[in-house]
Amino acid sequence: TKPLLELEDIRKLYPVKKGLIIQKEVGTVRAVDGVSFQLMPGETLAVVGESGCGKSTTARLAMRLIEPTSGTIRYDGQDITKATRQDMRRLRRDMQIIFQDPYSSLNPRMTVEEIIAEPMVVHNVGDRASRRDRVRELLRLVDLAPYHADRYPHEFSGGQRQRIGIARALSVSPRLIVCDEPVSALDVSIQAQIVNLLKDLQKEFGLTYLFISHGLAVVKHVSDRVAVMYLGQIVEIADKKNLYDNPRHPYTQALLAAAPEPDPSRRTAMKSLGGDLPSPLNPPSGCRFHTRCPLAQERCRSEVPALREIEPGHRAACHFAESVPSFTRFRNGEGI
Ligand code: SF4
Ligand code: MG
Repeated sequence: TKPLLELEDIRKLYPVKKGLIIQKEVGTVRAVDGVSFQLMPGETLAVVGESGCGKSTTARLAMRLIEPTSGTIRYDGQDITKATRQDMRRLRRDMQIIFQDPYSSLNPRMTVEEIIAEPMVVHNVGDRASRRDRVRELLRLVDLAPYHADRYPHEFSGGQRQRIGIARALSVSPRLIVCDEPVSALDVSIQAQIVNLLKDLQKEFGLTYLFISHGLAVVKHVSDRVAVMYLGQIVEIADKKNLYDNPRHPYTQALLAAAPEPDPSRRTAMKSLGGDLPSPLNPPSGCRFHTRCPLAQERCRSEVPALREIEPGHRAACHFAESVPSFTRFRNGEGI
């Protein structure tokens, strides 16, 4: 099988200028800086990192909602990097997005029916009557009663609003859904319900998900593979099992340590990361993580680590990926 979505060396750079009359370029915000991955049909790839790491930008680049500075995007084998507006319009029916904030992503003046039917109207799917039926069918699919169709978003809870957002995304039968932190704004008790709903819908319709999240705990059950991003780059990518059981990048290990772990015997000894995320404007030299990495050596300041294969399907961008203390040792408190 061939990938449904493929990003090859994608960059999004913003030159930053200063000065009132004579503008001088003072640097470049490297929002996304050389990201590559493949997403297979029916698969869920999670992209995880702190806010500002470029994960949402990557998702928007993948859908060409924003234009990349360089690199190639392929959808279903077709290079869409230079696709025209018209071509993209057709493709967008196939790729839908679910947003983080169900409060602001639904128009308060539209009924639930109008909201869910909107993509069908935009893409000329069906007539009024068939759209009406489809909306009710979609409401049932996301476990909402059909009579909710005539209500307004403010009458619903956060979880219900996210169900409406999911129904809207599904309305035009897409193959790819970008889930941009779909549960981050919800109560923890509701998060699992929405994640489970997304999993059920994936099984039923063979959907492919690009799942954006700021934490590793949320995506543990929904993802097949996980990519960890730091300052605009993927620092580690692996099958879920390898990533959680044998993380090879110190940043991934730190994220795992920061994730709430219900079982105390599995909690890690590594303290949460020191320091703030550096600015993507003129990021640190060498390994971008060196300013916060507890294992940083002299070499890390000057030499950029390549994203290397550590084991089949598992790549990490650390000079010492093979010798970084294993997560098991972190768990037992023998770590850093
Ligand atoms: Fe840390 Fe050096 Fe590895 Fe970067 S290359 S993650 S600074 S040990
Ligand atoms: Mg975001």
